[in-house]
Amino acid sequence: MSVATESGKFAAPRVRQTKILIGDDWRPAVSGKTFPTYNPATEELICEVAEGDKEDVDLAVHAARSAFESGPWSRMDARDRGRLLYKLADLMEKNLEELAALETLDNGKPIGDARAADLPLAIDSLRYYAGWADKIHGSTIPVRGDYFCYTRREPIGVCGQIIPWNFPILMVAWKWGPALATGNTIVMKPAEQTPLTCLRLGELALEAGFPPGVINIVPGYGPTAGASLVKHHLVDKIAFTGSTETGQRIMADAAMTLKRTTFELGGKSPNIVFADADLEAAVAGAEFGLFFNQGQCCCAGSRVFVEDAVHQEFVDRMVGRASQRVLGNPFDSETTQGPQVDKEQFDKIMGYIQSGKSEGATCATGGNRYGNRGFFVQPTVFTDVKDEMKIAKEEIFGPVMSILKFSDMHEVIKRANNSTFGLAAAVWTKDVTKAHAVSHGLRAGTVWVNCYDVFDAAAPFGGYKMSGIGRECGEAGLANYTELKTVTMSMG
Ligand code: ADP
Repeated sequence: MSVATESGKFAAPRVRQTKILIGDDWRPAVSGKTFPTYNPATEELICEVAEGDKEDVDLAVHAARSAFESGPWSRMDARDRGRLLYKLADLMEKNLEELAALETLDNGKPIGDARAADLPLAIDSLRYYAGWADKIHGSTIPVRGDYFCYTRREPIGVCGQIIPWNFPILMVAWKWGPALATGNTIVMKPAEQTPLTCLRLGELALEAGFPPGVINIVPGYGPTAGASLVKHHLVDKIAFTGSTETGQRIMADAAMTLKRTTFELGGKSPNIVFADADLEAAVAGAEFGLFFNQGQCCCAGSRVFVEDAVHQEFVDRMVGRASQRVLGNPFDSETTQGPQVDKEQFDKIMGYIQSGKSEGATCATGGNRYGNRGFFVQPTVFTDVKDEMKIAKEEIFGPVMSILKFSDMHEVIKRANNSTFGLAAAVWTKDVTKAHAVSHGLRAGTVWVNCYDVFDAAAPFGGYKMSGIGRECGEAGLANYTELKTVTMSMG
């Protein structure tokens, strides 16, 4: 199937795979049902995808279970697992243009971002974890008595992985890399809004040579396919990225079988600009930190605290930049902002904009829908925002910035921390001592200093408080996927 958009300026990506992957078999849903996936830039149907549910999840879990327990994967040398991950990364690189176009089609993100950010970061992540595969060590422990004691780090088993729609390819890589490097098997449920690239990656994984059952993919909805995976008694672990609300539900459901769980959830990240900062860099960084990916980032810098001495200057420059953002066909390389992923998100964002206006914040730019086709929202900047307003407290997940004023370092740290979230934060200043003091004072999993959204496969990422449990990326990400076994042997 090929899909054209308005401008016709791009080679339409072909949708090659719309079925469920169980073992090495692509099948329709047991129920025969399908669900639609749409192009958010045009609101047109792209295609129908097999709608997995409880029965499909059960088949996938059994495939993963037997691959874990008795397939070639269970006997494979660690180094060979790493080689398969390298191979998958190479195949992604080879098919980069196709994957980027498919991501843009299904998610709406600008093709330039998919090419320059999503794909390279995903490929890098798989290569990073490929290198770890043969470096998962235990230790020897000098216990009392005549015993030899050592530890082994073993795979957890079958891992259910549930991912969101904002970075579909990157989320696959963040989940598959550490799980496979450590020898687990996977049942993945992609988001219902964006299943296409995950399915294509399933094809590439088989092409790379992953044995059948190591990676299984069940597209479908959260309360059906997702919840069945969380509740399944043969699933050992759930890794989830998505909203805090859904994370809470999953945690409760996983409690029944006491599964290992890791969560990467929502945020309301503070971005703090001191008067001594390089103001142009801070404005550019704050623009990127909030508007990147249409504001659909869990770590979006949505509360921008600006010191009063530079507040007006910052607002003027930010309004200028925000209003110059280029909205439109995400396949045009000049486009910097695409549509929101679907109508539900669009409506939710418009509701927050309305609430900002009615609670007395000043809408300095934007505040409306852009165009009349596709789920586009104008880049929106609110000033005169107070800490207790809804737009300053709740995650909007859209292109809506709140600018707040502050006058003292201790005050701003306290206000920045006054949130149920704690995913990320940033500070802009030329004063090194202040930069460290604020970084240490902030209750957040990541703090960027004089930069924003700098991600690296080697750098841990995850949340304090209601933003999550556990860390992805880096060596820390491996801990999510291993059990620690202690072996004690009598030497007597
Ligand atoms: P959003 O509200 O932004 O769509 P969600 O956190 O609800 O984000 O969705 C993230 C992922 O979680 C998606 O793959 C979705 O299908 C899945 N999901 C939603 N509800 C549940 C649930 N009750 N159990 C398991 N997975 C779920």
